Amino acid sequence: MKEINRQKPILVTGGTGYIASWIIKLLLEKGLDVRATVRDKSKSEKFKHLIEIAENSNGKFTIFEADLLKVGSFQEAMVDCELVFHTASPFMISGIKDAQKQLIEPALNGTRNVLNSAKENKSVKRIVLTASVVSMHGDAVDMQDTENGIFTDKDWNTTSTATHRPYSYSKTIAEKEAWKIAKTQNQFDLVTVHPGFVLGASLTKRKDSVSIDFMISLLNGKLKTGVPNLTLGIVDVRDLAKVHVAAAFNPEAEGRYIASAGSSTMLELANILQKKYLTKFKIPKMQLPKIMLYLFGPLQGFSWKYVSRNIGLPLKFDNSKSIKELGISYRPIEETVLDHAEQVIRDGLV
Ligand code: NAP
Repeated sequence: MKEINRQKPILVTGGTGYIASWIIKLLLEKGLDVRATVRDKSKSEKFKHLIEIAENSNGKFTIFEADLLKVGSFQEAMVDCELVFHTASPFMISGIKDAQKQLIEPALNGTRNVLNSAKENKSVKRIVLTASVVSMHGDAVDMQDTENGIFTDKDWNTTSTATHRPYSYSKTIAEKEAWKIAKTQNQFDLVTVHPGFVLGASLTKRKDSVSIDFMISLLNGKLKTGVPNLTLGIVDVRDLAKVHVAAAFNPEAEGRYIASAGSSTMLELANILQKKYLTKFKIPKMQLPKIMLYLFGPLQGFSWKYVSRNIGLPLKFDNSKSIKELGISYRPIEETVLDHAEQVIRDGLV
C-alpha cells in the first residue's frame, strides 16, 4: 500500500458539493495544498466559502474547471497530485426526467474520465472514491438475502436498474467501473467510501443538495402531513470527511468502507427536531400509511415496486471496518440532526 507525500497537491473533484466542502476544509486545516474542480469557475458564489476557509487556514487552495462529461478535463488539475478524492457525481432522487442523461452518463463516464486521467498522470498513487451504501444494496428487502441480516462491504447492489432506483444504479455501475479500471494497473490504489444518508451542518447556504433539502423539508412544513416509514443509514458530514481523509492517508486502508453512524426512520429524525423545536416549525409527527403511498406515491416518484420493497422494512449497515481500520468514531445521530437544523435556521433557509 502506498504512502502519500503530504507536500504534494491533493485534488478534490466536485469541490462545490456539500460533502466535498467538508473534505476540503479538513485538508486545508491540516495545512495541505488543495485543488478543487468546479464545473463553472464563473459561478464563484458556489465556492466562495472555500476561498474564505482557505484564507483562514495554513493550506494552499486553487480552483480548476472540469466537467465529468468532458474527457480529459481533469488532467490539468491532477498534474503532480499523488492523492485524488473523486466526489463529483449527480445526486438526485426525485424529479428525474432522463436518468441516462442526468445520472448514469455523468456518474459512469465521469468516473471513467477521472480514473483514466489518473492512469495517464503518473504522479497519482491513491484515489478515494465517494461511492454510497446504495452500491451495496438496492432495496431494503434485499437485506433478507444477506449473510447475517446486515449489509457489509462484501455486498453489491444487484436490483437497481435505469428505471428502478436510477441514482442507486448510477452509483453501482460507476463504482464497478472504478474497480475495473483500478485492476488494469498498479500505479494507484483505489479505496471507496460508502456513506449512508448524509446529514449535518453545511458550510454553505446552498439549498439544492439533497441532504440539505431534506433537512429544510423536515422543518418548513413540506412534509407536515407525514413521512414514509422509511429507514436510512445516517452519517454526519463531518465524520464522513474524516473517513475520506483517513482512507487517504492510512497506507493500510484498502477496499470498501461503509460510513454510517447507525440507522433511523424518517420519523425518528423528525422526532429529534420535534423535541427541541416543539411548535416553532411544522415538523412531521406521523408516518404516512402504506396504502396512501401506493395511491399517491407514483405522483411523487415512488413507484409501487419501490413502496413494496422499502416501506416499513429495516435497513442496517455494518460500519465496523471504518471503526477498526480507520479509527473513526461516529457522533450520535441526534447531534448530527440538531446541528444541521441549527445551521439551516441560522442561515435563513427555513
Ligand atoms: P452535492 O452537494 O449535490 O454535490 C455534487 C457535486 O457533484 C457538486 O459539486 C456538483 O457540481 C458535482 N457535479 C455534478 N455533476 C457534475 C458534472 N457533470 N461535472 C462536474 N461536477 C459535477 O452532493 P453531495 O451530497 O455532496 O454528494 C457528493 C457525492 O457523495 C456524490 O458522489 C454522491 O453520490 C455521494 N453521496 C452522497 C450522499 C448524501 O447523502 N449526500 C450519500 C452517499 C453518497 P456543481 O456544483 O457544479 O453542480
